[in-house]
Amino acid sequence: MGWLTSLGTAAADLTLGRCCAGCDRPGVHLCPECRDELEPHVRFHTRVHLDEVAPGVGLPVFASLQYTGVRRHVLYRFKDHGDFSMTPFLVSALRAVLDEVTTHTDVSPRVAVPIPSRRAAHARRGFSPTVHLLQRALPRTRPRLRIASLLVDERTGRGDKGLGGADRRASVAGAFRLRGHGSGDPVILVDDIVTTGATMREAALTLMHAGVHVVAGAAVAGTQLG
Ligand SMILES: [Zn+2]
Repeated sequence: MGWLTSLGTAAADLTLGRCCAGCDRPGVHLCPECRDELEPHVRFHTRVHLDEVAPGVGLPVFASLQYTGVRRHVLYRFKDHGDFSMTPFLVSALRAVLDEVTTHTDVSPRVAVPIPSRRAAHARRGFSPTVHLLQRALPRTRPRLRIASLLVDERTGRGDKGLGGADRRASVAGAFRLRGHGSGDPVILVDDIVTTGATMREAALTLMHAGVHVVAGAAVAGTQLG
């Protein structure tokens, strides 16, 4: 555990008291029952349609955890309270989905591109949840992926939580800008949580319009797993 992780855990202890991140049981960071709920179970989430690129083109998106109940609480505590004692469990979930996708897509990705947080959220939290998990998951994925932060967040204004599919798509149009250029290697897009897929879609469009080959999307948790 690095110093930053230890510091984060200590800070979370102070602000939350030590209680289970999943069910608030006192005295533990995560109780055995909630730990069981974080066992990765990789499933198809959605197919993001990208007709702007070419008719019929789509991006399959997968996730490791159903974003409900205990898993939702744990992700909230990690993301919004900086409780890094949750990191190992979420890294396992991310590694599981990356392993599954890299071995089962027709074209195996070589590069993982994190979807950036909104700038305001990043400033408030002081870290990027997706990058934090991705950096720890990548060294042990098979085949090994490398990280490339090709997307820059351009979103302004309030978040889009609570918006439905079409509204959400409109709210994320132009959300990202490309930084640098792709290496030519196939890419997997990575996010912490996928809901409607609108953000994943906009990120994919930004990359694909620049000629980057995006083969799939992966998230730690998803709202509508099959
Ligand atoms: Zn619990």
